[in-house]
Amino acid sequence: MSANATSSCQSSNNPNAAPGIDKNQTGQAVICHPDYASQSRGDGLIGQKTVAAFALGAMVLSLPTGAPAETVVCSESLVSVTAPNASRAQSVCATAMATLPKLAQCGLRLSHPLSITVLNDLPGVSDTCFGYYVCDGHRIFVRSPGGIAEITQLSRLYKDIAPEVVFDSIVVYEVSHAAFEQTACEDALCLANHEYVAYVMQMWSFPLVVRQKIVEQFGQDEPVEPIRLNDLIAVIAPEKFAALAWQHFNQPGNGCDFVRALVTGNVSLEILWQ
Ligand SMILES: [Zn+2]
Repeated sequence: MSANATSSCQSSNNPNAAPGIDKNQTGQAVICHPDYASQSRGDGLIGQKTVAAFALGAMVLSLPTGAPAETVVCSESLVSVTAPNASRAQSVCATAMATLPKLAQCGLRLSHPLSITVLNDLPGVSDTCFGYYVCDGHRIFVRSPGGIAEITQLSRLYKDIAPEVVFDSIVVYEVSHAAFEQTACEDALCLANHEYVAYVMQMWSFPLVVRQKIVEQFGQDEPVEPIRLNDLIAVIAPEKFAALAWQHFNQPGNGCDFVRALVTGNVSLEILWQ
């Protein structure tokens, strides 16, 4: 099996899009968060959908059209937010603005416009999908806190966290995906690298007490070996991947230096199956 089959987030700008990601005239490849197959609803953690997700790394759907109300262009950035109301759009801007300096510390920046759309429901994706990022690196869709409140019980990672906190963290997570997509060299854009960066930034954004609880619940004895941070864990156990990524990030010698090495392709979490 070639690991390329599990690679995802090949930009739609990229003429050599990853094999296995179908794109048609009407659809766009998207990556749902947590991966859409990961939250079991009684059919086992590794169900058919999981296999499909792992094989494809992304799914294809028609993006929502005609939606909500207020669009705000955030200050000092390329980010714009469309939300059901202006105050929600402003708060998402604030979250994104607070995230960009942390991303910059790790060598990640936006170079193209990024739009974030907040919707109460995300049409066309699983009802356990909290948000998704379109693989062109320029568009993000996030479920509103009200929408999140309806589904957090289905999630191992989020079920005990306030919907507003989850919401903010998903904005951070998806903005990080976009920044990685826009910054990293093409060879670096595999699923595991993408998820590492997004989860580290998300964990960083959580209040300390939330972060500690996630690590206690899903982490492991340190040190965390990079091989544990692989595509399969990211897909079938995103809560574990989040905890391990944060532990790994905080080990001596890692941190932003490790993220920068991922961005430049000097290291990679991609496993090449022989
Ligand atoms: Zn992701």
